[in-house]
Amino acid sequence: MELSELIREGSFSPSPAAVEVLLGSDAEAREALFARARRARAETTGDKIFLYGFVYFSTWCRNDCNFCYYRRDNDIARYRKGPDEVVDAAERLVASGVNLVDLTMGEDPEYLREGHRTATAIIREIKERTGSPVMVSSGVVPARTIREFAEAGAEFFALYQETHNRELFARLRAGQDYNGRMESKLAAKAAGMFIEEGVLTGVGETPSDLCDSLIEMGRVGAAQMRAMSFVPQSGSPMEGRAESDRVTELVFIALMRVLYPHALIPASLDVDGLSGLAPRIMAGANVVTSIVPPRLGLRGVAQADLDIDEGARTVAGVSEALKTLGLRPATTAEYRERLAEISRLIP
Ligand code: SF4
Repeated sequence: MELSELIREGSFSPSPAAVEVLLGSDAEAREALFARARRARAETTGDKIFLYGFVYFSTWCRNDCNFCYYRRDNDIARYRKGPDEVVDAAERLVASGVNLVDLTMGEDPEYLREGHRTATAIIREIKERTGSPVMVSSGVVPARTIREFAEAGAEFFALYQETHNRELFARLRAGQDYNGRMESKLAAKAAGMFIEEGVLTGVGETPSDLCDSLIEMGRVGAAQMRAMSFVPQSGSPMEGRAESDRVTELVFIALMRVLYPHALIPASLDVDGLSGLAPRIMAGANVVTSIVPPRLGLRGVAQADLDIDEGARTVAGVSEALKTLGLRPATTAEYRERLAEISRLIP
């Protein structure tokens, strides 16, 4: 039986051979997968799409990931936003209608020296002022610090392995500890937080690696799972590498949706801006991430500036785009209901 028929009939499970076909020339199988992913999303979250605001509050980092623009050895302009600026950005985002504020930083030595007391205080203040759900993307930090984040009220801890192939991990995240990174996620889960796991696509992963990542995301108990296409970053060791064609990201989004219908799966605005939203949503994503308040000097990760100061990465811009797809932004009450449901489903 053709792969597209297997997918349509629901008797498909991802194997390296099937993933290879999906990434290759079989466009009919890919479309069947995307259609099945959309059905799975409709059955769990209907026409609702969750919106996340993004505050990248420190672009300093002690690490030297080979794919990253903000790696330690890249000679670039950096910033470290003060607590008042971070809280102000978060308040603007919540007022505009986001369902969660994602507080992201590099592994900034300044914040690390402070034992993250400043980051914890920022979380507490945002919770007090807005009541909004909060995600912390702080990089690897001690379990004690993660517990402080949880006690301050943060619901989510995001930490991306980027690959579950240890050799590829060592090439991407040079000098970092694979197990330590996994343990940080488990520490967050033990502290009662939801966790987000993620992969980077287009960095030399094989179909077998992708299948392993699908399994690991479930094994670690991720409530949110993301795939993001590699974008070459100037000044980084991977600058000369070809840009990813996006097919792998879209297929991986759809596979995550089919395997984990309950999961929160982002369509990030960070790779292709607002014009990249529709294909990711059509592949089964149910979250829009990287909504950034314009003109505050905040940056993205994969695309530092794309669509930010033009005001396209806003709730208004995203809502219009969703309407054309027959979807709508969720309310924060609906987002909380989703989180409650996920906590019942994930042990
Ligand atoms: S990916 Fe994160 S940890 Fe790695 S260099 Fe960039 S900011 Fe630092």
